[in-house]
Amino acid sequence: MKKNSIKLDALFFGAHPDDVELTCGGTVLKLVASGNKVGIIDLTKGELSTRGNLQSRKKETEAATKLLGIDVRENAGLRDGNIKIDESSKKVIINLIRKYQPEIIFAPYPDDRHPDHIHTGNLIRESFFYSGLKKIKTGVNNAYRAKKLYYYPQHREIPVSFVIDISEYYQKKSKVLKCYGTQFFTGKKSGDADTYISTENFMKYVESKARYYGFKIGVEYGEPFYTDEFIKFETENLF
Ligand SMILES: [Zn+2]
Repeated sequence: MKKNSIKLDALFFGAHPDDVELTCGGTVLKLVASGNKVGIIDLTKGELSTRGNLQSRKKETEAATKLLGIDVRENAGLRDGNIKIDESSKKVIINLIRKYQPEIIFAPYPDDRHPDHIHTGNLIRESFFYSGLKKIKTGVNNAYRAKKLYYYPQHREIPVSFVIDISEYYQKKSKVLKCYGTQFFTGKKSGDADTYISTENFMKYVESKARYYGFKIGVEYGEPFYTDEFIKFETENLF
């Protein structure tokens, strides 16, 4: 590895700043609290967002990053509304995977209401594989393949492989989401017109979803994930 780069335990990819916080912020907090090195890569700056602007979005992302306590946050510089699964985009992602050498990777499930989320899921799925091929030379480190790729749902229902208990971290996750004042309801009035995600009702939906998945595993709050792989399971998990 090159100097000044850090090896991560878990790397989360999202299409837009706030996607990871919204869908798996509790899992990020839980991984950080148990001593793992964690990073988030936002593929775009969210430049097409109806509310806020690049400057306010950057400030909000910085505040959320600080509160999450993660080790790395980078923006991949791809174009909002135009995420493509082409050679140059794959090179960007493969470089990031080889740079941070994460043990596990998280990506949006490649079926959703927002096309960027679908394309991001597929782009990460391909890059996860191709980063392990040594004849693909990208200029950053050697070939590297992470152990696992996990998908998180956004708007659509997805098949669920497992649920992480985030009960202890739910209140902090809510605080992290409040950092994104231009995007989500925080209790303060904003001059901007409401969007699909900016209403109080949306935040209630976010809470209900966490309660729904938590209830399914017998705890207060949970976050669901899907993987194509089999997961090692111990007999104690049967109870
Ligand atoms: Zn998004």
